[in-house]
Amino acid sequence: MEAPRVTVIGGGFAGVECAHQLLRRGHRVRLVEMRPVRTTHAHATDRLAEMVCSNSFRSDNPRNAVGLLKREMESVGSLILEEARKAAVPAGDALAVDRAAFAESVTRRLGSEPLLDLVRREIEAVPDAGAGFVVVATGPLTSPALEESLLRALGDRYLYFYDAMAPIVERASLDLAKLYALSRWGKGGGGDYLNVPLSRVQYEAFVKELLAGEKVPFHDFEKGLYFEGCLPIEAMAERGIETLRHGPMKPFGLRDPRTGREPYAAVQLRQDDLAREHFNLVGFQTKLRVGEQKRIFRMLPGLERAEFVRFGMLHRNTYINGPAHLDALFRWKKDPRIFFAGQLTGVEGYLESAATGLMVGATLAQLLEGREPKAPPFSTALGSLARHVSAPREQAFTPMNVTFGLIEDTGVPAARDRTTRREEIGRRALEEVARWRDEALPAPALASGETTSL
Ligand SMILES: Cc1cc2nc3c(=O)[nH]c(=O)nc-3n(C[C@H](O)[C@H](O)[C@H](O)COP(=O)(O)OP(=O)(O)OC[C@H]3O[C@@H](n4cnc5c(N)ncnc54)[C@H](O)[C@@H]3O)c2cc1C
Repeated sequence: MEAPRVTVIGGGFAGVECAHQLLRRGHRVRLVEMRPVRTTHAHATDRLAEMVCSNSFRSDNPRNAVGLLKREMESVGSLILEEARKAAVPAGDALAVDRAAFAESVTRRLGSEPLLDLVRREIEAVPDAGAGFVVVATGPLTSPALEESLLRALGDRYLYFYDAMAPIVERASLDLAKLYALSRWGKGGGGDYLNVPLSRVQYEAFVKELLAGEKVPFHDFEKGLYFEGCLPIEAMAERGIETLRHGPMKPFGLRDPRTGREPYAAVQLRQDDLAREHFNLVGFQTKLRVGEQKRIFRMLPGLERAEFVRFGMLHRNTYINGPAHLDALFRWKKDPRIFFAGQLTGVEGYLESAATGLMVGATLAQLLEGREPKAPPFSTALGSLARHVSAPREQAFTPMNVTFGLIEDTGVPAARDRTTRREEIGRRALEEVARWRDEALPAPALASGETTSL
């Protein structure tokens, strides 16, 4: 049997989506995933596309940039989104999933692909692409040996920043009489979140303990660089007594039906599995020590006897200096047979990582099918990520979630308000993605008797 011409390293969000784009067009792929032979400090299973922290793909509202990105990916055909919708749990206007069911189903589906060669081993150095192509999609927790090899190959100092995970508690251990079910402003299902109301006295006592709580220290050689969108709560608390009340503990839109009033502050708990047994503390990423997490989070009303399924933690994220090394097709400028995908390129988030995998898969399909590859236009959410990781810039390069600010909006007429303008940007982006898809990825010619999942 003919050997695959594409080797994808890393079976996470980017690697899986990249492989899927090629498989569905009849191309063979070798996917190399190191787990369970070797694991990371955040992954807990050997499943592909494992969600290591939150169980949410964030907003599903197309007026939000991440909602638009979902629509664009779905119009091209995304495995991650197809499986996410099947494993969805109620989460207001967000798309959140049962993480175990989701990863299980992605793994089962790829495992049954006859054109996929799934290899479980660690790649310690970027392999020579030979006559084929290599995609490095090993994510923010790339193994140290490969990280070392990349460092030498790129001739760079690595960039990194710190990110942190939120704790998950067992529903059965909560005192539900002290909580109330409600989504902010009654969005989505209306009652998808469990809310912990706090009085001013309770809030101030809680913040005081957060500030005093013992944290996991940084190593001497490390600098505490955080991603602004995912700050640990204690780092937010250090910015002032009101900061949390305007961040993850904001009570606005959460009127307690028992009192008819908004509490002084509130903590939201979001369902984390289909069985509704696990709930995560939304926005409560932390680097408090485990014992301190138990002590301090149990101060919250209703959580006095909370059992923790997982504690919050701090982790290092690895990413390369995309603009120095990549073009808008995610190709390494020094060797265009080597591609990078996922968080390693300087995007942030499960969905954004999958989106880059989708684009790399689309580029490789075009190359394997003998066409000059085209990237999605920069006026789309997909293209905006390609531009973010490749466009030269004066200021330091930092990873980004997708935002309307990244999407090129030249030619979109001025509108009377931001919402109308965003709707127009979104409408145009969806048309352009459809045009790009039809030109770059026409339906493949199949041999007689063959079928495709396109
Ligand atoms: C602890 C943590 C928490 C995060 N929380 C969130 C969150 O809540 N929400 C969110 O949207 N994003 C979050 N992120 C950011 C990011 O979106 C995810 O890490 C996402 O999984 C990145 O997708 P990826 O495909 O680039 O990498 P991954 O999904 O991590 O996939 C990379 C894969 O490569 C494998 N691998 C690594 N090295 C090798 C090697 N040498 N050989 C073979 N295989 C290898 C890994 O085992 C892994 O399966 C978090 C990141 C981290 C690290």
